[in-house]
Amino acid sequence: MRAEGIETVRRILCVFPRYTSSFGTFEYAYPLTDGVQAFMPPQGLLLIAAYLPANWPVRFIDENIRAATAEDFEWAEAVFVSGMHIQRQQMNDICRRAHAYDLAVAIGGPSVSACPDYYPSFDYLHLGELGDATDDLLARLARDPSRPAQQVVLKTADRVAMSDFPIPAYELAETRKYFLGSIQYSSGCPYQCEFCDIPGLYGRNPRLKTPQQIIAELDKLRECGVTDTVYFVDDNFIGNRKAAMDLLPHLVAWQKRTGYITRFACEATLNIAKRPEILAQMREAFFVTVFCGIETPDPDALKAMHKDHNMMVPIMESIRTLNSYGIEVVSGIIMGLDTDKPETADALLAFVEESRIPLLTINLLQALPKTPLWDRLERENRLIDDDSRDSNVDFLLPYDQVVSSWRKCMEVAYQPEKLYARYQHQCDYTYANRLKVPVSPEMKSWANIRRGLIMLRNIFWKVGVLGDYRKVFWKFALGRLRHGDLEGLIGSAMIGHHLIKFARAASVGQQNASNYSIRLREAAVPAE
Ligand code: SF4
Repeated sequence: MRAEGIETVRRILCVFPRYTSSFGTFEYAYPLTDGVQAFMPPQGLLLIAAYLPANWPVRFIDENIRAATAEDFEWAEAVFVSGMHIQRQQMNDICRRAHAYDLAVAIGGPSVSACPDYYPSFDYLHLGELGDATDDLLARLARDPSRPAQQVVLKTADRVAMSDFPIPAYELAETRKYFLGSIQYSSGCPYQCEFCDIPGLYGRNPRLKTPQQIIAELDKLRECGVTDTVYFVDDNFIGNRKAAMDLLPHLVAWQKRTGYITRFACEATLNIAKRPEILAQMREAFFVTVFCGIETPDPDALKAMHKDHNMMVPIMESIRTLNSYGIEVVSGIIMGLDTDKPETADALLAFVEESRIPLLTINLLQALPKTPLWDRLERENRLIDDDSRDSNVDFLLPYDQVVSSWRKCMEVAYQPEKLYARYQHQCDYTYANRLKVPVSPEMKSWANIRRGLIMLRNIFWKVGVLGDYRKVFWKFALGRLRHGDLEGLIGSAMIGHHLIKFARAASVGQQNASNYSIRLREAAVPAE
């Protein structure tokens, strides 16, 4: 559905802020691709763009690809911005630039919804999800697009049902320039992990689109050029297990219809390992990666953070189970927990070694507003407001000790030999279990072959010739070439390159220890 009943026409400029370098956005891999410049198309802004009245012209700009220009601001009558905490300074900077053209600027999305006070300069704050606040905002702009005398705060009380969401306006995005395609089936999570803001922001009873909506979205993504990997950005893909089971047969049928050229990835709790019926369907639908918030291998720590559900099945057993369905596990890890001890780093590195997980996002604990962790630390007077630190948490262990443990983990876990050994294991014991998909005409198309050749050329030149870990790379690469496994070679080399480069920068203090930290983050960064 769209907003209706609005006659006046307004030109809306939607601007998505730049990310600064982050472990989870893979920018060191971009130079190895055929022109990728950004991580994923932003669901929120593209959804709003699709919801605008049909007669409102809209421009979408992702500043990770190109900066909004004077011409864009001169064209617009109002500017919409959305993003996460990590993009806070960039969002405030877009507001400043738009105000230079005397434009009204509205901000929505997860960061402002949790922390309205981060955004004092914006004209309109849109808190919460698509709903009555959105209709109110559009009606106000229709009446008068000029800047209001003071900030107007609009909070959604009545949400639009996800089954009524329009398909995000993917046609406005330069989809070929993204590392991954994105899609959303559900919102919310039934669990209440102490550090997580999802249940507080989006609820514990997951809301859903219909399978038919997802299939229509996938078709549209394909029309817009997204074919390689589509990531379900749902907070927990199995937050509603029945809904996941309802959707999966539709995804299988879609893959059969379209020739299995697309791989799927998602986020889910590790107890998915207890659901072989779901995993079997996911294998059939060609899910190849699942991000699991393992957080820590320490059972006491999991209990303390209310993540006991990670222990329903022994962690190693869960990982092996997912691998047996051809699914590579990506793991979130948190350091700086109250249960951490001086030997935590060594225990974590032993876990990395044993689990053979190649990609683990290792972050320092950060307290997010609207979480039980925030409330507890506030009570204990342990929240620290100091941008020069990598975390706002007053750890129980000395801060310097926690940060150096994190650096040690990054340095050791991503040594090229160790990382490629883990990828070798994945090739032998995970990728080998994947569905053998048919070779479709699209896969054999010249466009697809050309893309593969460009990526191989970049990898061979930038890693195999110029790279300082080329010996390790070639040992792995020659093995893959002997097996005719170009996909395993390209995927591992691209992601591996990012991990190695990022970890090296992190281990000498040039990258943040938290995805949420604003240390090292610049404000007015033009898109490159
Ligand atoms: S399971 Fe994941 S999404 Fe759900 S509350 Fe815990 S961390 Fe958040």
